[in-house]
Amino acid sequence: MSDILLRNLRPMGGAALDMRIKAGKIAEIAPSLQADDLPVEECKGAIAIPGLVEAHTHLDKTVMGLGWYENAVGTDLRAMIDNERAERHRLGMDPHRQSMRHALALVGAGCTHARSHVDIDTEHGLAILEGVLATKDALQGIIDIEIVAFPQSGLLVRPGTLELLDEALASGADLVGGLDPSGMDRDPKGHLDAIFGLAETHGKGVDIHLHEAGTLGAFSLELIMERTRALGMQGRVAVSHAFCLGMNDWHATEALIAGLAECDIAILTTGAPSREVPQVKRLHAAGVRLGVGCDGVRDTWSPLNRPDMIDRTRIIAMRNNLRSDADLALALDICSAGGARVMGLQGYGLEVGCMADLTLLDAETLAEGAISDAPRPLVLKAGRVTARNGAALRKAP
Ligand SMILES: [Zn+2]
Repeated sequence: MSDILLRNLRPMGGAALDMRIKAGKIAEIAPSLQADDLPVEECKGAIAIPGLVEAHTHLDKTVMGLGWYENAVGTDLRAMIDNERAERHRLGMDPHRQSMRHALALVGAGCTHARSHVDIDTEHGLAILEGVLATKDALQGIIDIEIVAFPQSGLLVRPGTLELLDEALASGADLVGGLDPSGMDRDPKGHLDAIFGLAETHGKGVDIHLHEAGTLGAFSLELIMERTRALGMQGRVAVSHAFCLGMNDWHATEALIAGLAECDIAILTTGAPSREVPQVKRLHAAGVRLGVGCDGVRDTWSPLNRPDMIDRTRIIAMRNNLRSDADLALALDICSAGGARVMGLQGYGLEVGCMADLTLLDAETLAEGAISDAPRPLVLKAGRVTARNGAALRKAP
């Protein structure tokens, strides 16, 4: 929690103003504030936005700092999952060290919050979770990390996983994850009943990876809605990817979107260029809470993603045909405030009284900020400077 005066910054691309931060919160925004005895940071007319929110990633998976990973595994989902489980040993992937590297890269690029899925399986037990929990602790006051206990290798097909998820939720995981109820476990009702049962027992939210496309994915989504209604979990369930919402059958998709809005189920997208993806403007117009993530970064799955939510804003814009300045500003909003709405963050924003979690953008307008690869000049978490010129101040191990 810090006290600081930020001089000459432009909240959301508006007029240049000063911002006084007291005890980690925005206390005053006005032209030409007196510094009194506060430290002063000159912002040179940069745009200020609330901190970027990485709403779907896997901090435990990156191979950053381990040299180039030669990927010979192909694109089959099960093959990629099996390969990763084995490679974690061969590469000596320490989950704490690797997640520190990934999380601090996000901080350097302007993130103040992240939701990370963390693998829970019968081979690694809770070891990966423990490493990421250590990172969450170590980075308190730098980036807030929310953890989803994620049965990446399947749930019912791997006896013992359910018990481990239960233990993970008792040991500090914030949400319970799930994965392709039909495609992975081949038992959609059993998989979802187990996941929602854990959520109910622990009083925690749900975030399910749903890669299933077309009518199979639509069926899973309907089962998720049924359980959300039955347990009164409106506002506490999210579906990641939801490729089925990108299918061409617009009548079916429209009905699904209306159901999501009614159940207040959030959607998290990466705008994956290789798949059909939910159309963000359609979801936004229907009032569905919507966040964005970069997904795994430099991992055994692919070297293509970057730990940078502005890079991802551009991908979302390209994938959704967002071109106008207003639409680019919307993409930027989804990559920041959108994730905050999905995660239910309190005190998020640039108004007086909000937490002073903010990112500066070196750009003329929000639209330029949404597509520019210029390093973020300054990032603050609760008023404390956490990154300058694209690099976190805390050094990664
Ligand atoms: Zn994922």
